[in-house]
Amino acid sequence: MKVVLQNLTKKFPNRNKKQNADVIAVDNFNFEIPDGKLVGLLGPSGCGKSTTLNLISGLLQPTDGKIFFGDEDVTMVPAEKRGIGLVFQNYALYPHLTVKQNILFPLQNLKGKEKLSKNEMEKRMAEAAALVQLDTLLDRKPSELSGGQQQRVAIARALVKKPKVLLLDEPLSNLDARLRLQTREEIKRIQQKTNVTTVFVTHDQEEAMSISDLIVVMKDGVIQQSGKPQDVYDDPQNLFVAKFLGNPPINVFDAEVKGEKLFIGENAVMDVKGLTDKKLVAAIRPEGFVPSEGGSLNCSLIRVEVMGRDISVVASHPLCQNVTFRAIIGSEKNYQINDGKISFDILPSKIHLFDKETEKRIRFEA
Ligand code: ATP
Repeated sequence: MKVVLQNLTKKFPNRNKKQNADVIAVDNFNFEIPDGKLVGLLGPSGCGKSTTLNLISGLLQPTDGKIFFGDEDVTMVPAEKRGIGLVFQNYALYPHLTVKQNILFPLQNLKGKEKLSKNEMEKRMAEAAALVQLDTLLDRKPSELSGGQQQRVAIARALVKKPKVLLLDEPLSNLDARLRLQTREEIKRIQQKTNVTTVFVTHDQEEAMSISDLIVVMKDGVIQQSGKPQDVYDDPQNLFVAKFLGNPPINVFDAEVKGEKLFIGENAVMDVKGLTDKKLVAAIRPEGFVPSEGGSLNCSLIRVEVMGRDISVVASHPLCQNVTFRAIIGSEKNYQINDGKISFDILPSKIHLFDKETEKRIRFEA
């Protein structure tokens, strides 16, 4: 089931008496979630991710715009009639019910035409429990489960009604690092197996990139960019997106174009054909630095951290917007350090230029 969000806007009244303007949590959001895909809604706290999810679920009504499930306009359809499955950060399981009873619960509340026989309910419950690999824990209470297992019960409970759309709001936030990793793979596996159209809200870019078919990066209620995770990472349209994706983050330098060459300070780091002389911002991915004797960008070396597969070189440059920056280099590579100095060549595909004022991307021929 594809989901179409058309000119979707949500305003909340401002409770601050000194400010009359409404809070615009979601601002003219247009996006199509393709059938059977997992879309990650991504952005910093307060950017409007949860509000967008709650609009899709029907828990909130939009101020403007429409929502379609397939060809059906569901904008005015109440949440319980939309055929959605919801999973929140705090699993919200019933503590006094067993795993089995928790998963059965939504089916027992079905009324009228939707009402199921006892056998059918048991069958659906068993299928959902097997899907999230909880079939051996059916008689436990939530307090007797790990956080990851509890979240899997919540997912089974959301899936048991065979929803058209599965909505997950920061489902991994309460889990420790290892469980987060395991559970996110689990979510991807379950989503692929059921092929249910899924929207996944997170502020964690790595999490979103690793499991999403498409990501939508938001800021202040506005979509900044959407697309396949790798495409958005490789081709950010503005500095916000470039900075938001990637760990370690992209390194931002004050730079200048002079005579179709890009200068960082005195160092000419690259040809930029077609660009007129101007000051701008150059952002370089950590993997874009190639240490080389006589390299084009001269920096001070702070320290080298050996991480096993990679080496992380922490260096500084007076025009870097942070005190230090990080270059990631394959551990098999040789690099030259002389008296606390290190020089890099920069891979043209890993450097992105942005306008100083608008922070929009400036494109060039290397
Ligand atoms: P987080 O990651 O912190 O949950 P988010 O990206 O999900 O953030 P939302 O919860 O969607 O952000 O909130 C978006 C904006 O709308 C914020 O500025 C928030 O303060 C505001 N907001 C959300 N709900 C309400 C409400 N009921 N009344 C007023 N303002 C609200």
